[in-house]
Amino acid sequence: MAGMYAAGIAAGANTGVLYIRREYPAAIRRVRAAIAEFDSLLDQIRHNFSFQIIEGAGSYVCGEETALLNSIEGQRPEVRVRPPFPATHGLWGKPTLLSNVETFANISWILQHGGEAYAAIGTEESKGTKLISLDSQFAKPGLYEVDFGYRFSDLILCDAGGFKTEVKALQVGGPLGSILPLAAIDSLTVDFESFQGAGFALGHAGIIAIPKHFPMIDFMHHIFEYMADESCGKCTPCRLGTAKGSHLLEQASADNPLDSELFDELLELLEAGSLCALGGGVPLPMRNALTHFYDELSPYFTALGADSGPCGK
Ligand code: SF4
Repeated sequence: MAGMYAAGIAAGANTGVLYIRREYPAAIRRVRAAIAEFDSLLDQIRHNFSFQIIEGAGSYVCGEETALLNSIEGQRPEVRVRPPFPATHGLWGKPTLLSNVETFANISWILQHGGEAYAAIGTEESKGTKLISLDSQFAKPGLYEVDFGYRFSDLILCDAGGFKTEVKALQVGGPLGSILPLAAIDSLTVDFESFQGAGFALGHAGIIAIPKHFPMIDFMHHIFEYMADESCGKCTPCRLGTAKGSHLLEQASADNPLDSELFDELLELLEAGSLCALGGGVPLPMRNALTHFYDELSPYFTALGADSGPCGK
């Protein structure tokens, strides 16, 4: 609350809007209680600033900033073409400061301790701390906060205690996140440059463990199917491409292998032609899976090799 209030004052705004998915009623209750507590402080300083909670109806694409703005305005949550950007033409056409709650939450600490103290935490490129959520497959699931630069294997194996079941991979950063083989955790640290250097992306750092028995081809199909369902439909590469990818992967089998070249072209089209990161983000987990789970996936693709097709990317 304090961080959003401070950001609002700095930006000349008098309203802070928190967009929370309706499927998270506990989060809505807690934020509502925090607003009530903070409002009583604002009454004491008689400052004109109010908070508003908007309950999202469950659309994944509302994590994209302009679809989120449309949703708040009561419109269909379609991505807007940019420019103009929300900083000049945002909510109701007004300049809007738009960020995630984690970022706003850092502001009050920075105001209390100073920017230099904050910048002293973390790595050269990734400053401060990172919230990481671990799913129910971990021995100790939950939300963790670590300094950027923290050893990834310490988080996974020591702090979280490893896994409840045998795991072969992690998906890091949500449904469009990177797919890491478990062996990769030893060489990674929790920061953007470490993940990027290894061909992955840290993203928002929500982590799902993929059990050893779960077929990787089914996991890839699940990603495409989910994105086809969540695509806002604004641009053709994503609207048609995610449905096509879902269909291709659903049909793929050892008897009916998927054309690697066709699949590679689809990934290139999604990457180059999508209007936002929903369609443009699908290729990363696909290529991670094809690169790191080659032996498991090669029966499902024609001529899948290290130097050709998606595996060579
Ligand atoms: S990439 Fe998908 S979600 Fe994004 S604008 Fe295009 S259709 Fe909508």
